[in-house]
Amino acid sequence: MSAPLPYYRRAPLRFQCTGCGACCTGGVNHEVALTAREAEKIRQALGISQAWLRKRYLTSDNSDQPGIRLGRDGRCPFLGHNGRCRIYAARPRQCRTYPWWPELISSRAAWQDEAKRCEGMNRGAVVPLERIERALAADRKK
Ligand code: SF4
Ligand code: SF4
Repeated sequence: MSAPLPYYRRAPLRFQCTGCGACCTGGVNHEVALTAREAEKIRQALGISQAWLRKRYLTSDNSDQPGIRLGRDGRCPFLGHNGRCRIYAARPRQCRTYPWWPELISSRAAWQDEAKRCEGMNRGAVVPLERIERALAADRKK
């Protein structure tokens, strides 16, 4: 017997980002992973030195495995006071592919649970399956 299809292939998923910023304010287990290339893109976008980027914004001095250092409340330091990402064009893949993460779209329970945080889920038009699968493929390449 074959395994059941993941939720996103069984049900049409609607999503329209409102720009509320809630996904950038985290939670206790929140983390934003970066590749070294993504960290470099952020550094260039901010126009700062590597040393300052690491000291001020990254979790690790090991540039192969950096992450964004979030505030104690889980807030991303790149979230501006206007609720917008200050490095939007250089934001990492993890941010670009949200909410199309395997753990969020594989079951209805996970999707609905995340929708309590993200008001864009279950809002707007149905997102084409191809778009979701492109995001999943991008996520797998990291
Ligand atoms: S990098 Fe930008 S999009 Fe990603 S969590 Fe931070 S503020 Fe949000
Ligand atoms: S929580 Fe959802 S609606 Fe709000 S900014 Fe993030 S993706 Fe958009």
